[in-house]
Amino acid sequence: MPGRLAGVTVVVVGAGPVGVTAALLLARRGVDVLVLDRHPAAYPQPRAVHLDDESLRVLQAAGVAEAFTAVSRPMAGLRLLDGEHRTLAEFPRGDGEHGWPQASMFSQPDLEAVLRDALAAEPRASLRGGVEVLHVEQPGPVRLTVRDRATGAEDVLTADAVLGCDGANSTVRRLIGSWMVDLGPSERWLVVDLAADAPLDVWPGVHQVCDPVRPATFMPIAGDRYRAEFRLGAEESAADLDLPALLGRFGAQGCTVVRRAEYTYAAQVADRWRDRRVLLCGDAAHLTPPFIGQGLGLGLRDVHQLTWKLAAVLDGADDALLDTHQAERAPHATALIRVAVLLGRLMTGGGDRAALARRAALTAVQRLPRLAAFAAASRTPPLRRGPLVRRARFAPGSPVGSLLPQPPVAGVQRLDDLLGPGWAVLTAGGPVPADWPGRRVVLGADVDSPELARWLRGRSVLVRPDRIVAAVQPGTA
Ligand SMILES: Cc1cc2nc3c(=O)[nH]c(=O)nc-3n(C[C@H](O)[C@H](O)[C@H](O)COP(=O)(O)OP(=O)(O)OC[C@H]3O[C@@H](n4cnc5c(N)ncnc54)[C@H](O)[C@@H]3O)c2cc1C
Repeated sequence: MPGRLAGVTVVVVGAGPVGVTAALLLARRGVDVLVLDRHPAAYPQPRAVHLDDESLRVLQAAGVAEAFTAVSRPMAGLRLLDGEHRTLAEFPRGDGEHGWPQASMFSQPDLEAVLRDALAAEPRASLRGGVEVLHVEQPGPVRLTVRDRATGAEDVLTADAVLGCDGANSTVRRLIGSWMVDLGPSERWLVVDLAADAPLDVWPGVHQVCDPVRPATFMPIAGDRYRAEFRLGAEESAADLDLPALLGRFGAQGCTVVRRAEYTYAAQVADRWRDRRVLLCGDAAHLTPPFIGQGLGLGLRDVHQLTWKLAAVLDGADDALLDTHQAERAPHATALIRVAVLLGRLMTGGGDRAALARRAALTAVQRLPRLAAFAAASRTPPLRRGPLVRRARFAPGSPVGSLLPQPPVAGVQRLDDLLGPGWAVLTAGGPVPADWPGRRVVLGADVDSPELARWLRGRSVLVRPDRIVAAVQPGTA
């Protein structure tokens, strides 16, 4: 594939983790790509600290998973605590079905350094910092008006497509006339990053304190770093908090405060993700409270699921393929943002403190299927039915729309390597519809894996380039 699309250029606006991952994925598909960012260097402050294994699969596709695991550590799970810090429920995490730890903890600047190093080594991609995008114009090739922030000089660039990965206050979003739609109220939280001289005696997972008076989150990150987060009341400022006392509840009173910052967490999805050849991804398209650590993960999924479609369109496929971007990604992002909002409510539901919090936590987790499923397995909901997700209307338990698992396989490092970068058919030897495209991989002949055999149960599956199962064909009885 590399080489086929030489000369075609995509401009990615924003060199955050989503934009740089998009550029890596496009370059690996043979697309020339230019990334622009208004800042000369990566944002140095830590934001995201958690990634799930589905998102790590995206980093694998971008060629940086091993480098990421070198700067991250597997995480033990999620513990819900009441206001007295007694455990209400615990959801462990371990080795997942995707060949990576189900949950990893890291510091976002470390991930961004890994991504930028990979981009610097990629001949088809380049990055220009200190350049702000002011306007985009269509139709025809997209014209971008950009300004060099050091000299003030303006320039016009043309591109065959533009990805707006320019974050929460996206210029590209505004320029295509897209608006954010609220999915829940915003909240203000104090985020405190800590360094410890010696490891703290804490459970190595995420602690969510379901206390309506002072909801809080506490977690070890990687190395000597820890993070604590405390919700601020409507009239409260960060200076009003007795931080040493609050940290003392987690045994972290002796830590050095590396950084404290107030954040307003919004729950929003853009109403329009595409205007012809200009498309939104990442925080430009959706914002979530961080309670289930999915903000960045959603953005990584956006670009994993969009870049192969965009490469296909640049190679001659119908532009209508790009309609599936919002149709697939918006409902998925909305579902996960609603789970995050729900968990936020769980932590903050008021009334008689301990009793209500305990009851709220346990009933909500047990009764709400999406939250229960996510809490128990970290699996995100399948994509909705559509042209690239051929699922029957009523098909409970169907793998269609979900990521193909990546269990160990004999002889190759990872299943995705065997399936290759395009469409693939994975079959246990049963019937395969004639119109299924892509490389054919036969279980027992090309690949040996008891886990895969158990999962496949004699069926054949059509797998998209982003490893989402597009269709399933039952085996012969
Ligand atoms: C406290 C906190 C904790 C979080 N925890 C988690 C977590 O545990 N797990 C998780 O998955 N997510 C988490 N998130 C969310 C995560 O950090 C974001 O989702 C992620 O950074 C979004 O990446 P992005 O590339 O879309 O946007 P950004 O990282 O915001 O990058 C956008 C880039 O676009 C550039 N830009 C903007 N406008 C222009 C322009 N006009 N021209 C040129 N460049 C432009 C900016 O300079 C910036 O570099 C957390 C967020 C916060 C604040």
